[in-house]
Amino acid sequence: MAILGAVMVPHPPLIVPAVGRGGERQIEQTTQAYEKAADKVASWQPETVIIITPHSIMYQDYIHISPGTGAKGDFSRFGAPEIRYEVTYDQVLVEEIERLAISKGLDAGTVGERQPALDHGFLVPLYFLAAAMGSPWPCKFVRVGLSGLSFETHYRLGMLIKEAAEKLSYKACLVASGDLSHYVQADGPYGFRPEGPEYDAKIMDIMGRAAFNELLAMPENFCEKAGECGQRSFLIMAGAFDGQKVKAEMLSYQGVTGVGYGVGLFTPVGPDNNRHFID
Ligand SMILES: [Zn+2]
Repeated sequence: MAILGAVMVPHPPLIVPAVGRGGERQIEQTTQAYEKAADKVASWQPETVIIITPHSIMYQDYIHISPGTGAKGDFSRFGAPEIRYEVTYDQVLVEEIERLAISKGLDAGTVGERQPALDHGFLVPLYFLAAAMGSPWPCKFVRVGLSGLSFETHYRLGMLIKEAAEKLSYKACLVASGDLSHYVQADGPYGFRPEGPEYDAKIMDIMGRAAFNELLAMPENFCEKAGECGQRSFLIMAGAFDGQKVKAEMLSYQGVTGVGYGVGLFTPVGPDNNRHFID
């Protein structure tokens, strides 16, 4: 089994106490769930952790995967430059994913890097993984971004990631970094839209049942109106479990800051021919 499991997590910089300066207390429930999720990732003892972030460079028609030997990043944009991390990228796995993408005509790869520094969609998971895994890192990392391409294309990339990890007999796991709706509270920074809470309830229900066919079938314009951040991130993760029965456990949901934060764990429990959701 190449993909040991996956977690779905949000990425509010505020959750890091040096950034939140007390504000993190309002999302304490999310913090606790996040710690559990990070512990779970550590317990899988992965050789490689693939973090999917919505805040790497995003192209309309191409899914960017970070090239090179590694990258650094810090929270200076959020007033805490002292919180910084450096990771080594798994170039072998990246190369294999890119090779498969080219061979299958999927528009994803390492071309077009603009900002090598790690973004907060990657750094917030790292903050929790560092606490759970210790240093130096016991694993390498892959940074995968998102694009404006279809839900199905992102799901297909997840399938490729699984194929690549299997081919290399890697023990890998995925971290699907993504916030939910940005419109869940009238006094939140982005205001309220009825699609906001509706989207969040739907996602928590769908992910809690690992009903990835329903995730794929969600209307894109509804998701857009709901101001989601992580839908395509969750889809890449879902694709990595194509053809597998998946045990899902949602640990937490909070919308108190006006943005929805969901935390969940996903583990494959064996092949299931009824769960090939594409073709
Ligand atoms: Zn985001």
